Formats: sequence, structure tokens, C-alpha cells
Amino acid sequence: MCTEKLGSSAHAQMDTGTQDVCHEDYIMNSTDPDPNAEAYMNFMKKHCCYDAIPTSCKLVIFDTTLQVKKAFFALVANGLRAAPLWDNKLQRFVGMLTITDFINILHRYYKSPMVGCDPCLFSNAHLGLSFTVQIYELEEHKIETWRGDSFQNVYLQYHDQYLISITPDASLFDAVYSLLKHKIHRLPVIDPESGNVLHILTHKRILKFLHLFEASVPKPRFLKMQIKDAGIGTFTDIATVSQTATVYDALSVFVERRVSALPVVDDDGKVVALYSRFDVINLAAQKTYNNLSMSMQEAVRRRRCYVEGVIKCYPDETLETVIDRIVKAEVHRLVLVDRDDVVRGIISLSDLLQAIVLSPAGIDALFS
Ligand code: AMP
Repeated sequence: MCTEKLGSSAHAQMDTGTQDVCHEDYIMNSTDPDPNAEAYMNFMKKHCCYDAIPTSCKLVIFDTTLQVKKAFFALVANGLRAAPLWDNKLQRFVGMLTITDFINILHRYYKSPMVGCDPCLFSNAHLGLSFTVQIYELEEHKIETWRGDSFQNVYLQYHDQYLISITPDASLFDAVYSLLKHKIHRLPVIDPESGNVLHILTHKRILKFLHLFEASVPKPRFLKMQIKDAGIGTFTDIATVSQTATVYDALSVFVERRVSALPVVDDDGKVVALYSRFDVINLAAQKTYNNLSMSMQEAVRRRRCYVEGVIKCYPDETLETVIDRIVKAEVHRLVLVDRDDVVRGIISLSDLLQAIVLSPAGIDALFS
């Protein structure tokens, strides 16, 4: 399905470019209150979700009776990361199928023992075999099979009662709050009248939208702060994976820590790659999901879809530089490294949106 957006005043503005407001005439003065401290927050409050929807985009919707395996292959074939789920009986959208679901299913199937089988099958040496057998079961399952008591231990984002969505006329501020509060990466915009999904908003799209208007929004002074002083990002207990670890090890960290990407490190802790949740979909694309004992080095080498690479930043760089880099690279996070390339932190779009949009409103999404 290709969604076409109706005319939008915000887009008309975006196309002509608004360049009449000078954005360089501020002075770094830490003693006076910054008159522009709330500029990004106000921008997000002033624009609605509909404004940030691109004029044309691809949207794939899955019926809940579709087989799980086909659904993931369809995501790969369409270069997508998520799809809304339509329940024909209920005549409404009931959830989202994302790569997190794929990871959770793979992880569960790889480790769970088969009922009624010889226990020796489940020794480490035979895990691959038990997994292969169970994957055949998985291939039969429909999306709706993953509901109900028999699968209640499998965490699927798809849940009958609970689809987190937003309306097109809600503010972008509300969208940022919802993404961060619920720790989700995809927020469907649903038209309340027709019930149609118009778009799936992401952190990336929202920050890019702000960036498109850069010339017309006054720059807050905090943009000139160095990362090490701004404290924006995560700097302790960084989840990483060794390049000699297996893909299964990486999946375990994704499931247990619920992080969206892992710096892949060598024996000295230097970052050599980044393995994100999205990279896991390569296992479906290449039909290698029954070989999770592959090393990370191999998995990184084999990925052929979109490779994020390691886009890095340094503690003495300013917030402005970091935002510019993350927007231009169209990635979700930067790995903070020291001059020896040793991992010191992660700065994700969640951290940036919290800092530039919610913090000025006195809101901490995770603790509100
Ligand atoms: P994200 O889901 O990537 O937007 O990140 C949510 C939060 O988790 C942010 O505060 C990130 O800084 C943090 N984070 C992301 N990846 C990692 C990681 N590998 N280790 C520790 N924290 C992380």
C-alpha cells in the first residue's frame, strides 16, 4: 500500500524554505537565562503529527491470519521494519509486528526444549537440532497463533487490548512523549474517523522534521555544550557484544537488556562494528535463522541489507555536532568512544529527543 498525503501547509512551508530568521546571533552566556531554551519544545507543540508525515510513503499491513514466517519475509522484501496488524474479525488494528518480535520468537525457539523428546537432545551440543525442528513448527504458525495462553510467555508487541497509537492532529510533542514513555520505536498515526493507519512515526522522522525547519527555529544555547558536560546519553553499563560471541549471545542481550543495538568490540574493548536489531532481519533474508551459533564477526560480514556502520562521536564534541551527524547519517544512535576507539557510551535519538524536547518542559518520559 502506498500512502499519499493530502496537501499540508507545513509541507508547503518546508518546500519553499523559510530563511528569514537568523539563527546564529546568539551569545554563549551561561549566567543569563537562555530565551531560546524552549524553542524545540515549542516547535514540537506547535506542529502536529500530520505535518511530519511525508507526502508519499510505503505502508504494509498484515492480516493476523498471515503466517509468521511469511510476515517476516514480507518485511524483508519491502525493506520495512514494522507493520500494523489488522484483525479482520474485530475490524480494527490490534498491534504492530516488528523486528523485536522476530528476535523474541527466534530467541525463544532456539532455547526452549521440545516437550516429550529425549532430554539428551537439549544438551548444548544438540541445541541446533532441537531449534531446527521447532523452527518448522514456527513456519506453520499464523500471527494470531501467537496470542492466547499457549504462547503467553512469548513477548509479542501485538496485544489484543493494547495498540499504542496517536491521532494525526495530536502534537509532535505528544508523539515524542509517547515514543519515549512506552520505549517504542514505531508509533502508528491512526485517523480516528476512518480507523486507517496513515503513517508510522519514528524518532528519526521527527528529528528530521525539526532539522528541515532548522533555519526558522532559534537555536537553544545548550547545543553548544560538549557531550561530556551535557550528560546526554548512556555512559555506564553499556551493553556490548564481543566479535567472537555468537548471534544467539547477541539475541540474548537484546531480549534481556531491551537495547536497540550493540557495539561489537574486540578484546581491547575497541568498537569494530555495530549490530542493531534491524541487522537480525538479515537472518530471515538469508534464511540463516537456524544457525545462531554463527560468530558476530561472521554475522556482521554477511549482512547485506542496509549496513549502519559505526558512526561515532567523541566526548568533547558539541551536542549540535552530534545532532547534525545523527540526522545526516540517518541512524538511530552514535557510539561514544574515546580517542582509542574504546566504547564509552551510547547516544540515541531517544536521549536527544528527551534532552531537547521533553527536558525543557520539565518532563522525564521514563519517570512520569
Ligand atoms: P534506544 O532504544 O536506542 O532509543 O535507546 C533507549 C536508551 O537505551 C537510551 O538511553 C540509550 O542511550 C540506551 N542504550 C541504547 N543502546 C544501549 C546499549 N547498547 N547499552 C546501554 N544502553 C543503551
